Amino acid sequence: MSDIILGRPDFRDPAFGWTNAKSFPPYVHGTGGNAHLMHRTAGVKMYWYRATYDSLIRLDSPERMIAETVCGMSFFLHSKRGRTCTLPQRDAVLCGRCHGSTPTFSRKYPQPVTPEEARLRLGCAMEGSAA
Ligand SMILES: [Zn+2]
Repeated sequence: MSDIILGRPDFRDPAFGWTNAKSFPPYVHGTGGNAHLMHRTAGVKMYWYRATYDSLIRLDSPERMIAETVCGMSFFLHSKRGRTCTLPQRDAVLCGRCHGSTPTFSRKYPQPVTPEEARLRLGCAMEGSAA
């Protein structure tokens, strides 16, 4: 059963209804055409309410899940624009910024592979889920 909160406390407090996952897979990558790199997960935020005109309905599972990376990107997991991994595909290219190195595709530094090649290698050996 779902709880209903009358009123919209989220209007006053934009952080209302969001929680941080206690555990989350260490890696995350984008799924769109511009995704090339495997990032390190800094945290996963979850939103637990469905909003109506004048109330919030508490859900049993989060409606929105956003993974944030060490390098400052955000991926919407709920709309499958990001995917978390327990283990990256063996030859996936790790994000340099997330992993304590130089930016991966900056012109200032040597590039390990082309972005096109990195895109082909991107993926999980083992997918993960946040809780
Ligand atoms: Zn990164």
